[in-house]
Amino acid sequence: MKNTAKGFATRAIHHAYDPLDNDGALTPPLHLTSTFAFESAEAGGEMFAGEREGYIYSRISNPTNALLEQRIASLEGAEAGLALSSGMGAITSTLWTLLAPGDEVIVDKTLYGCTFAYMNHGLTKFGITITHLDLTDPDNLSAAISDKTKIVYFETPANPNMRLVDIAAISAIAHKAHATVVVDNTYATPYLTRPIELGADLVVHSATKYLGGHGDVVAGLVAGSLEKITEIRLFGMKDMTGAVMAPFNAMLILRGLKTLALRMERHCASALVVAKWLEAQPSVSHVSFPGLESFAQKDLAEKQMALSGAMIAFEMRDGLGAGRDFMNRLKMIPRAVSLGDAETLIQHPASMTHSTYTPEERAEHMISDGLIRLSVGLEDVDDILADLEQAMPHKTQKAAQ
Ligand SMILES: *Cc1c(COP(=O)(O)O)cnc(C)c1O
Repeated sequence: MKNTAKGFATRAIHHAYDPLDNDGALTPPLHLTSTFAFESAEAGGEMFAGEREGYIYSRISNPTNALLEQRIASLEGAEAGLALSSGMGAITSTLWTLLAPGDEVIVDKTLYGCTFAYMNHGLTKFGITITHLDLTDPDNLSAAISDKTKIVYFETPANPNMRLVDIAAISAIAHKAHATVVVDNTYATPYLTRPIELGADLVVHSATKYLGGHGDVVAGLVAGSLEKITEIRLFGMKDMTGAVMAPFNAMLILRGLKTLALRMERHCASALVVAKWLEAQPSVSHVSFPGLESFAQKDLAEKQMALSGAMIAFEMRDGLGAGRDFMNRLKMIPRAVSLGDAETLIQHPASMTHSTYTPEERAEHMISDGLIRLSVGLEDVDDILADLEQAMPHKTQKAAQ
């Protein structure tokens, strides 16, 4: 593609699109069509046989989706991309393509709640073994991997507890055993971390989050080699899940991507301020944020992330009850799941996004019941701090005295 030598923000705006190929339209056309007319019966047959290029039906490909697919591939440093109906559509279409009964998937201890449910309650019903390891120590993978291991799967930073996994170290070990490395890059986005450049094979995204960025669409993306993406498109997406992205949603994600670099700079700068402020609060016992000196994996964060991200996990000294009271006192910040939106969002993983785990599983998977997850948005950081400040317990106590 002619734009690949350009910078990240430029590619997010221009890559693979020339207005002059489209009647001068600055904004790419929205192709609201389910099906495509063939020039002749023979031409249609040849497309089905894979002997001729062209669009057949929008559950396989669509020109608006195709532009988004080229853009995410360019931003992730991958050969190809695929647009799906949701992050879960991206994850399930990818894994259904790569797995067969008898295979093993090695996954990190901490996964987003529905990914955990898909693995532990879904895939296990079909003769697939799911092995949860602490992948923050690559030696654990070396000790456990075998020729049954088909996929090594993890998030970094992990939702919700912010544990990081060394993509380069894990990929090197996985590849010696011929396993495919799949990284959920939703938290970092390609602006901060590009897993494929570090050795991973496939990247999956909930584009609902930072890539869309405006909280108005549920969407998913995958990036990787053309060979693997074609398999996922023609089997996992077309036949196994049907989880195709609507072209209208592709247009919304294309619009979101145009400001991704700009938004991430602001998200990350504000989150660092908020994380430092939270850490200084007497009512807060612990803050997990890759930009803090106290962060357990600070070195890896510096090696693997261009900026520290904008997701914060923290705990109140007086536990879950104090956390709920704190959330209920917030006036501007909505109590809502999802993340990466313009609005700062706060939620309680144990009772919300990670309630797919039993309490015992949460303890085993390092998701504490008192943990609160904050997605720092794009408001003026002083207003974010002011809302957090007025909701802190010491304020209320003082007011009551
Ligand atoms: C939200 C999320 C998902 C699921 O994405 P949907 O778009 O909601 O289907 C997967 N992984 C992570 C890390 C997420 O935060």
